[in-house]
Amino acid sequence: MLRCAMCRLAVSRAHDIGETAMRICNQCKAPLEIDVWACTACNWQPHVLAGVHCLAPAMMVDHDGFHEPLFVEYERLEATHFWFVYRRKLILEALQRYFPALRSFMDVGCGTAENLRAIEARFPRARLVGGEASLHALMQGQRKCKAQLLQMDVRAIPYIDAFDVLGAFDVLEHVGGREERNKLNTRLFLSKTS
Ligand SMILES: [Zn+2]
Repeated sequence: MLRCAMCRLAVSRAHDIGETAMRICNQCKAPLEIDVWACTACNWQPHVLAGVHCLAPAMMVDHDGFHEPLFVEYERLEATHFWFVYRRKLILEALQRYFPALRSFMDVGCGTAENLRAIEARFPRARLVGGEASLHALMQGQRKCKAQLLQMDVRAIPYIDAFDVLGAFDVLEHVGGREERNKLNTRLFLSKTS
């Protein structure tokens, strides 16, 4: 029996692990059970830019790991460079081996969504979500896959127990100090640390 991550009650259809359940407010952490990113508890509502819900607009600037002028080059490398190509193959093989019936996946720090594109091709029925600080990267990602893409701080994942698998690939080394990384490690399933 499925149970709500917040209140531990058995879930109903409206409270199921579908598209609308298990989201939490970015501001007060109250559960959001309606099909919009808006909190009735504290009235928080994210801006939507270029069709992307922006949960952490203060982070939409050049930041460690992504510099806007390099995006075109980065996108080309992500599609063709052996590091990204073989990393993607490993990710797909791991998902296929350990989660052959994958229903939902979130890529935390999804960049331009190249991994999500590959996961969508392998698991076309899975619900996919990507989170990334850079709106520019997400706008490129929108062209590649149908995943829901969120502009967000990867340290503030706005879901609880909503996915079969969370992935963070080459992300943790860009996140704060060891204490913050340890906090993330307790929540992330697949990750690569350097
Ligand atoms: Zn709230």
